[in-house]
Amino acid sequence: MRNALVTGGGRGIGRAVCLRLAREGFHVLVNYVSNDAAAREVLACIQAEGGSAELLKFDVGDPSAVASALADWRASHPGESIEVLVNNAGIRRDSLLLWLGSEEWNDVLRTSLGGFYNVTREVLQDMVSHRFGRIVNMASLSGLKGLPGQTNYSAAKGGLIAATKALAQEVAPRKVTVNAVAPGFIKTDMVEGLDVEALKKDIPARRFGEPEEVAALVAFLVSDEAAYITGQVISINGGLYG
Ligand code: NAP
Repeated sequence: MRNALVTGGGRGIGRAVCLRLAREGFHVLVNYVSNDAAAREVLACIQAEGGSAELLKFDVGDPSAVASALADWRASHPGESIEVLVNNAGIRRDSLLLWLGSEEWNDVLRTSLGGFYNVTREVLQDMVSHRFGRIVNMASLSGLKGLPGQTNYSAAKGGLIAATKALAQEVAPRKVTVNAVAPGFIKTDMVEGLDVEALKKDIPARRFGEPEEVAALVAFLVSDEAAYITGQVISINGGLYG
């Protein structure tokens, strides 16, 4: 059984990715940072369907927490490694730049971009040594086009896209693929408070996406069939931005 680590797997898109990868036969390591109840619900859902998973609570933005959680996991799973990594954990702290505090700037960069660095660095060595690996980074439309009120988030996601392209070239000879998924508006807790009806008018598909639709794309990118796709940014946004 291959192991798949999904950061931010307790809710939203990450939750859907966990459920989908478990259905594809992966043992899923469900990472989250604070919402124990939501994470336990994901675990229960997977187990109820006959799948296999475990919870791995740590803050992706804290390098020592990441290192120690993954060292503990390795110690309790001798001979195993993580074949699939979905860097999905992310937060938004929106504000126009004139009012954007350094805390909001740093928190978003630390989680979305720092999290990619902290977690990927920990699992990449095994992927390279075993000559197999799949990394999918959850970027955003905001990282491609830039969205007003999100200079911090756009910077983090834009950086993640550039890092995806750079790392893909580093590890392609070792049969490790690295891709980014760039969702538009997806129905999760993260979009709470947005003016859904107004935003829908700008989306050619006239609706928000479902987390399961993003999970289906991730499932393809981590499959054996996607071995020749690397360094790409795949948008999933109902036609909002081409
Ligand atoms: P969400 O519903 O807010 O869920 C976020 C998940 O990330 C939660 O499980 C949360 O853990 C976890 N998390 C947050 N900070 C973390 C940290 N420091 N360490 C570990 N886990 C952390 O968000 P979502 O909408 O599913 O978004 C998932 C990803 O997709 C994000 O990277 C987001 O930027 C991206 N995205 C979302 C949309 C959208 O429209 N929803 C669009 C484009 C891109 P807890 O449950 O413990 O709080």
